[in-house]
Amino acid sequence: MSHYFDQTVWVLGAGQLGAMLQHAAVPLGINVKPVDIDAAQTPTLGHADVVTAEREQWPETQVTKVLSEHNNFTNKDFFATIADRYKQKSLLDKLELATAPWQLVETETSAAQLHENLGDKVLLKRRTGGYDGRGQYWLKAEDAIQVPAGWHQESIAEQAIDFDEEVSLIGVRDKSGNCFFYPLTLNLHQDGILTASVSPLIRLEQYQPAAEQMLTKLMEAVDYVGVMAMECFRVGGKLLINEIAPRVHNSGHWTQAGSNISQFESHIRCVAGLPMIQPSVRNNNFMINLIGCDLDARWLAVEGSELYWYQKEVRPGRKVGHINFSKVAQPDIKVALEQIEGLLPERYQNTISWLRQQLLD
Ligand code: ATP
Ligand code: MG
Repeated sequence: MSHYFDQTVWVLGAGQLGAMLQHAAVPLGINVKPVDIDAAQTPTLGHADVVTAEREQWPETQVTKVLSEHNNFTNKDFFATIADRYKQKSLLDKLELATAPWQLVETETSAAQLHENLGDKVLLKRRTGGYDGRGQYWLKAEDAIQVPAGWHQESIAEQAIDFDEEVSLIGVRDKSGNCFFYPLTLNLHQDGILTASVSPLIRLEQYQPAAEQMLTKLMEAVDYVGVMAMECFRVGGKLLINEIAPRVHNSGHWTQAGSNISQFESHIRCVAGLPMIQPSVRNNNFMINLIGCDLDARWLAVEGSELYWYQKEVRPGRKVGHINFSKVAQPDIKVALEQIEGLLPERYQNTISWLRQQLLD
């Protein structure tokens, strides 16, 4: 009797997402091996093994070459599309999926033209490599600034969206083409970085069908397998796609506490070709990202907290962990928020009051 399925799932990248994929796969009897792209030793893959990735882009290294050339690299071609914002936005347009109005910044494109086409506030986003709000540059007509050197052809320009809030949908598609979804997640970003998420929320239920339709259309169009995240702006009753991630996503971390099948387990089930079923969701869930904070054992004493510490060097602005809470009753949520507030830096005050607003009457 074997303890493991024969197949290993290799993850391109060895950050926190790879570690959490590995962790979620242990009870399934699946061996998941995240691989550091700069590792000196290249892995030896079996023919029946599977490759997935925790990031949408990678430089060519010995490791990425071996992994990305394997015959079972799930969604292989889709990564190149998503990693380049120009290609990503072009695909969304082709599928008639609503996104923020945009254009490519070409060699001759001037800031004046961008303002003429897209409005007074325009956000330049580098085509590749941006994350957590890096690789972005605001152009405001009143400042009369030019497109900075080095951004022509290397960036797209987007209209500034005056959104009501940001929501995301975590979708799952198995190898037979069945789609599953978690309830919409409400997200708070500060300085372009996700600080907190809440799900489910009754008031977001009305947007769920439209969101599922949009993501289903995209996953079907590219015959996707595994977890895909769709970040949206809600503007009145309408959802505009901000961006797509072809992987497990920070805004789905709450599923570790709030669902019987986390996003990580869903992804592993699908890429490994195991049966997938509709995840069930329990309680009111929220997640707080730990950004540039030192590890603090007192977090563990907060009732109901579930800490995930990434064991990375702490630097300002860097995601170094998160804490999930899964609770039913408002008084319990209130106490947990009070306790955790006292254990986080001052700058978390906005985040905590936002959570209070969303979770308490
Ligand atoms: P991620 O860490 O999610 O990969 P990112 O750096 O790739 O982030 P985006 O998700 O495109 O970048 O943008 C980060 C945040 O910046 C968004 O969540 C949103 O708060 C803000 N933002 C992005 N695009 C726009 C826009 N067109 N109008 C207004 N705000 C925007
Ligand atoms: Mg984003």
